[in-house]
Amino acid sequence: MNKCIFCQIVDKNIKADIVYEDKNIVAFRDINPQAPVHILVIPKKHISSIMSLQEEDEKYIGYIYRVCKEIAKKENVSKTGFRLVVNTGKDAGQEVQHLHFHFLAGRKLNWPPG
Ligand code: AMP
Repeated sequence: MNKCIFCQIVDKNIKADIVYEDKNIVAFRDINPQAPVHILVIPKKHISSIMSLQEEDEKYIGYIYRVCKEIAKKENVSKTGFRLVVNTGKDAGQEVQHLHFHFLAGRKLNWPPG
């Protein structure tokens, strides 16, 4: 079976602008940024969406938030703020079926979102 595009980024078969990486997590700049800072933070393990999360995956979720805190400092937006978005399913417009957190910052973000 073909690997999803984000698994291919994890495997380094597709190039990405990686800003953070460790054993379990990788974060890279979105190819089509919607804000001056737009980073995708993903578990390396292929999890299709929140709807596929298993109990053993819970460790990744809290950890991703801690990685986001470090990204915020590194990108100089810890004081100005940022938004995390996890599109899930058709109505949310999820295009890539590999769990990812959008880290958006660097401009005033509208609320409510689209
Ligand atoms: P979503 O609509 O929540 O599934 O978001 C998928 C995101 O992945 C979009 O913002 C795309 O711009 C982004 N994306 C797709 N392919 C790549 C890639 N090769 N490198 C970086 N970002 C990508």
